Amino acid sequence: MLNDKPREECGIFGVFGHKDAAELTYLGLYALQHRGQESAGIVVSDGKKVRIQKGMGLVTEVFKQKGLEGYPSHLAIGHVRYSTMGSSSLKNAQPFLVEYSNGSLAIAHNGNLVNAQELRRKLESSGSIFQSTMDSEIVIHLLAKSRKKNLQDRVFEALSQVKGAYSLLFLTEKELIAARDPQGVRPLCLGQLDGTYVIASESCALDLTRAKFLREIEPGEIVFIDEKGLRSFKPFPKERHSFCIFEFIYFARPDSYLFGGNVHLIRRAQGRELAREYSQEADLVMPIPDSGNSAALGFSKESGIPFEMGVIRNHYVGRTFIQPSPYIRDLGVRVKLNPVKEVLKGKRVVIVEDSIVRGTTSRTRIKTLREAGAKEIHMRVSCPPLKYPCFYGIDFPTKEELIASNRSVEEIADFVGLDSLGYLSLEGLFKAMPLPREEFCTACFNGVYPISIPKGMGKHTLERIIS
Ligand code: AMP
Repeated sequence: MLNDKPREECGIFGVFGHKDAAELTYLGLYALQHRGQESAGIVVSDGKKVRIQKGMGLVTEVFKQKGLEGYPSHLAIGHVRYSTMGSSSLKNAQPFLVEYSNGSLAIAHNGNLVNAQELRRKLESSGSIFQSTMDSEIVIHLLAKSRKKNLQDRVFEALSQVKGAYSLLFLTEKELIAARDPQGVRPLCLGQLDGTYVIASESCALDLTRAKFLREIEPGEIVFIDEKGLRSFKPFPKERHSFCIFEFIYFARPDSYLFGGNVHLIRRAQGRELAREYSQEADLVMPIPDSGNSAALGFSKESGIPFEMGVIRNHYVGRTFIQPSPYIRDLGVRVKLNPVKEVLKGKRVVIVEDSIVRGTTSRTRIKTLREAGAKEIHMRVSCPPLKYPCFYGIDFPTKEELIASNRSVEEIADFVGLDSLGYLSLEGLFKAMPLPREEFCTACFNGVYPISIPKGMGKHTLERIIS
């Protein structure tokens, strides 16, 4: 029985036309490491031959011994993947590479398809054999099976059948193709370097490779890049945008620009709103680093309460929630953050946190802060209570596991061990956004899913159909 969850958080990066395409992709993935730490992979092409290297672990681990540098290439795509408990396996590492009647084809995907189950059933009943349990592989089968004459039409036909969130890169021997779903749920941007094109999940990856940010790939846009240049198409009907608001709360890197704004400045504005909504007398404001840093700064500026570093982060530990086993995850909480007793002793503390998911990590953290001598601990969270799971690519647990779905704010404060708890309202969150509220997906807060979820999709879709 296979027990892989389909949900994904990932980062993708691609280069066309640069002699150091493989190395640039390595660097790009390095900058996107926060989007996934479980596996990494790169596919390169020299115009004739396509090669792949992927493995489990961080980018530096996967490409530690033997990289792709021995293979001159001008075209490359790469992927970093985060997965949840139980789905840790090499067969699900991306990019996926296949050989089909028209040559080689690779895909790197960030997002989650909501009709994966139905499409996979159809494909399997017509003879397709899958190597993985990932929804991304479905796209590659659809493309390979298409009877359309040219690649462009095959891509259009394949993508017209999938529903859900996707930011995608395809590589053939000679082309790089980028696509973003019509609602634009996940980010994707286009840059230029020495006259060549670079595509990345977030602009921080362009910065690292010194590529100039040109623009975001638009929702519903499909871009073909080959030696003749770049061609852009919008083959599907225009849809309402549904940019993932949680990218701004937690997932994206603060130095990135996406959905029309810089992540750090937006988080800082969230912190200011939070201070306006829930003021609190206290001696200091501190973040849970690093994801709470920007909002804590905003909270401190708005409230006038001094900003302090009450806990110090060990940077050589990944995001704790990424660790697959609960025991290790618990250790991870302690390893990652260490309280500064001299700062906390006898103090009334406001902690600014970006989000509470299960509440278990926060509970452990608060305990260590109390042990370090904090007199009062008030938590302010820079988003509303997370009540609904995400089907579009952020890994939130099931509704039952989301603490805010079945407990009141007071009950959560009790569980976590806080003197008080305040969440930013959805109204307040919108005030901090660079675009009008209608542009965002806020399903995790209000259960309004902008891409309809097929019946039965809920817990572990693919797991059910292939077990
Ligand atoms: P917990 O107290 O167990 O809910 O963990 C809260 C911490 O998890 C916060 O510091 C968040 O930054 C972090 N977090 C944010 N998003 C996620 C996610 N998708 N899955 C797990 N943890 C997350």
